[in-house]
Amino acid sequence: MIVIGSGIGGLVTATQLAAKGAKVLVLESYIIPGGSSGYFERGGYRFDVGASMIFGFGDKGTTNLLTRALEAVDVTLETIPDPVQIHYHLPNDLKLRVHRDYEKFLQELITRFPQEEKGIRKFYDQCWKVFNCLNSMELLSLEEPRYLMRVFFQEPGSCLGLVQYLPQNVGDIAKRYINDPELLKFIDIECYCWSVVPADLTPMINAGMVFSDRHYGGINYPKGGVGQIAIKLVEGLEKFGGQIQYKARVKQIILENGIAVGVELIDGKVYRGKRIVSNATRWDTFGKLIPSDSIPKAEKKWRERYQKSPSFLSLHLGVEASVLPPETDCHHIIVENWDKMEEPEGTIFVSIPTLLDPSLAPVGYHIVHAFTPSWIDDWQKLPEFEYEAKKEQAAGRIIDRLEILFPGLDAGLDYMEVGTARSHRRFLNRQDGTYGPIPAYKLKGLLGMPFNRTSIRGLYCVGDSTFPGQGLNAVAFSGFACAHRVAVDLGL
Ligand SMILES: Cc1cc2nc3c(=O)[nH]c(=O)nc-3n(C[C@H](O)[C@H](O)[C@H](O)COP(=O)(O)OP(=O)(O)OC[C@H]3O[C@@H](n4cnc5c(N)ncnc54)[C@H](O)[C@@H]3O)c2cc1C
Repeated sequence: MIVIGSGIGGLVTATQLAAKGAKVLVLESYIIPGGSSGYFERGGYRFDVGASMIFGFGDKGTTNLLTRALEAVDVTLETIPDPVQIHYHLPNDLKLRVHRDYEKFLQELITRFPQEEKGIRKFYDQCWKVFNCLNSMELLSLEEPRYLMRVFFQEPGSCLGLVQYLPQNVGDIAKRYINDPELLKFIDIECYCWSVVPADLTPMINAGMVFSDRHYGGINYPKGGVGQIAIKLVEGLEKFGGQIQYKARVKQIILENGIAVGVELIDGKVYRGKRIVSNATRWDTFGKLIPSDSIPKAEKKWRERYQKSPSFLSLHLGVEASVLPPETDCHHIIVENWDKMEEPEGTIFVSIPTLLDPSLAPVGYHIVHAFTPSWIDDWQKLPEFEYEAKKEQAAGRIIDRLEILFPGLDAGLDYMEVGTARSHRRFLNRQDGTYGPIPAYKLKGLLGMPFNRTSIRGLYCVGDSTFPGQGLNAVAFSGFACAHRVAVDLGL
């Protein structure tokens, strides 16, 4: 078994299969595992490359897939509960905190929109319905008929509930219960901050998970930084006899009679496997690893339905602790103008993980990761000095806007690293540095997202361009499903 890439999707597939007795080799082009949930160290700081708001570490139910993935290979990771998922700073002085405590969150929202109390409760109740269905069943491959039969007989109500929500988007359900335009904008940013599309285009299944699990399993930060998740999964993989090679960049997937039978690295080494799993995005898998003249029809169709989301401009800052006002929350979202929410640099996401785990920075300092949507086209074909100058200017614009929340930020800067869409493309190996697929037009919920099997026999995809999409817990779901399907195909 060969897995191309050690993002969380690839590693969950690899560990699950190793735990079932398969002989697994993971080939990772970078020097450490994790991909978008990796880390880097500079000047005494340990920065998360991307993700910092982590779902899936709960200790109950079935949707705590990161906890389960680690347990499956006998490893554990200490986590730190985050009392507030997001502190929103929105137009018209709309400031709201999503507390871990569900009622506390609802009260804050209802205080601002008292006329919408019933609608607010009804809307979030719908999300709980989705979540309760998901959280009552083992989450495995929807491409495996015997599993589907089994869960249907065990949990018929939950299955029928999910089938009902599968083709629906959040916007349609929100508008059924809520009238206030500003509150509907709030639901838009609630979706946009993880799906990078507004509520009308965001599948209800994903929203059910996100809007409920934050109050159920909660948001929990891994001690030592997000990079620890991948490190621990690799530890578990090796415990179960699996192997990982770094600096092993796959150039192409080898096809024989149309069947995927192995891979070739850029240094010419060839590895053969009974099954090949690609954790690269679908755009990188079909087009780079599989030559563009062999892209199956199904992939072409998928590309008509889904497009690449923008990448991010990321500011990784080390700042003096005095810059953060007392009681600052870990995660913030800033939008000053609703009309610009989806534009490049329109929304700013901020994570300050040292508020939960101070060990990630020197004493007296914090990490601030501020990121904002940004397209690769704005960073292409620039001479080096222009590229650097453009980065500096963009960082200046973001820091000016952050000064409102954190007065004295500029003066308190100790370290700054700016990453662009080009950095995301280069270090994360993601075409155009994209965050992942987004609907090209209004689709029927999650119905259009492909599962793990592909039209090429022996080749599977895992990660955020497969069902159910972006986010660590989502790609862990994809990993469980992929490993399950491969194991059945291998008779394990
Ligand atoms: C700035 C940012 C913030 C985010 N914040 C959050 C958050 O707060 N919470 C959350 O849950 N999610 C967040 N996400 C999303 C989340 O990080 C991703 O959805 C998830 O990590 C993707 O995992 P994956 O397994 O699909 O693949 P990736 O993380 O993309 O990993 C793929 C791996 O495959 C390797 N690879 C690719 N091609 C090859 C090749 N040819 N040969 C060898 N190796 C290859 C890559 O090097 C990489 O290591 C964020 C993402 C970003 C960019």
